[in-house]
Amino acid sequence: MSAIAYRLPQERRLVTALPGPRSIALAARRSAAVALGVGSSLPVYVAEADGGVILDVDGNSLVDLGSGIAVTSVGASNPAVVAAVREQVARFTHTCFMIGPYESYVAVAEALNALAPGAHEKRTALFNSGAEAVENAVKIARYVTGRSAVVAFEHAYHGRTNLALAVTSKAMPYKSGFGPFAPEVYRVPTSYPLREGRNADGSPMTGAQAAERAIGLIETQIGASRVAALLIEPIQGEGGFIVPAEGFLPELARWASSKGVVFIADEIQTGMCRTGAWFASEHEGIVPDLVTTAKALAGGMPLSAVTGRAELLDAIHPGGLGGTYGGNPVACAAALATLEQMRALDLSGRARAIGATMSGRLNALAAALDVVGEVRGRGAMTAIELVEPGALRPNPPAARAAVAAALRAGVVALTCGTHGNVIRLLPPLVISDELLADGLSVLEDALRAVAAGGA
Ligand SMILES: *Cc1c(COP(=O)(O)O)cnc(C)c1O
Repeated sequence: MSAIAYRLPQERRLVTALPGPRSIALAARRSAAVALGVGSSLPVYVAEADGGVILDVDGNSLVDLGSGIAVTSVGASNPAVVAAVREQVARFTHTCFMIGPYESYVAVAEALNALAPGAHEKRTALFNSGAEAVENAVKIARYVTGRSAVVAFEHAYHGRTNLALAVTSKAMPYKSGFGPFAPEVYRVPTSYPLREGRNADGSPMTGAQAAERAIGLIETQIGASRVAALLIEPIQGEGGFIVPAEGFLPELARWASSKGVVFIADEIQTGMCRTGAWFASEHEGIVPDLVTTAKALAGGMPLSAVTGRAELLDAIHPGGLGGTYGGNPVACAAALATLEQMRALDLSGRARAIGATMSGRLNALAAALDVVGEVRGRGAMTAIELVEPGALRPNPPAARAAVAAALRAGVVALTCGTHGNVIRLLPPLVISDELLADGLSVLEDALRAVAAGGA
């Protein structure tokens, strides 16, 4: 990769216990001012972030293996993105694309249309958040099909607005108490090779078998002719970095296409080089009708998109899609710089290299620790699922303890999973090899300590 210029020293450095005194003071102000329902994983407050490090207000430099949930793939203050934002913000911050359109929105749409899977004619509409993109993809599918039912999957996560919660699977903390949810959402089992879907002889279901199981439920319980959309994350993110068995996604896509069902790939977490390709759909050659993107798309600025078949997006009447801030010009400028950095630095290739390093090291460790049930993922989206030793039962306390021990030593890793027993690694794709190696060493020590009952 061509060299990336870092602003902050790329090092792990602890100068106080975590949290330090300034973070403790901010936490006190926060609890008197910020809603309790908004949580934070870290006990420290951020002063700066760059490349693979987060610098806190007490001067501690932490290794970032989370990228703010797969957002800062090009780094949290990538010089090209910063320059593009500065340049745009000095010209104008907002006109509302629905009032006064501007070129950068068009250019982001052109770029996404060219990158998204499939050679067909495409169109793009821009929004602010991932949840908003999911809502709009479902709106489009219902409009064009004239059908109402939406099929989502177990372990799915699609955001926090009402429809996005309806299609999300996990009750705590996302859904509990927040209903009633949007109607006409149906949930079917996914392909989760470690845990779910065994044939009568105990062998794990193949991807095709898991797809047949889901399709059978859809056809008997809903009826294919009532289904507007099938909505799926090619690799489930929040749900535990669940990589479906090979053949699952292609079989679902084939079925959807044969029944006039709009196949929506939610690539908000998996897209934009994270898994070693622009889109995770590419790994099995599937061509979704609609793709949602957000997270890494604009280098940390809020921007999301629905990209897909021109005949679907262009079916909606003018004014049917939009929003005051959707495709904000500063976010669009950031996205164009972000996409250019991803290309120039070959961040898909970098994601594959990071993934090979992470899975190589963690698989070696897993062989020695019976608390590790599985290491899985694709590219720089790698997870460690923790189990009770000698069993497959989820072990959320071990995941929490390992992440807490890593943090005490200055490494930020996140958990996920329906049971909260999965540690997910999503380092910035611009992290240096040295910093990644150091972060992994700390995490390995933490996992060893947990396995030995000492953390
Ligand atoms: C994060 C995420 C969302 C929601 O995005 P927000 O910007 O938080 O609304 C939706 N789908 C997937 C797969 C995600 O990972």
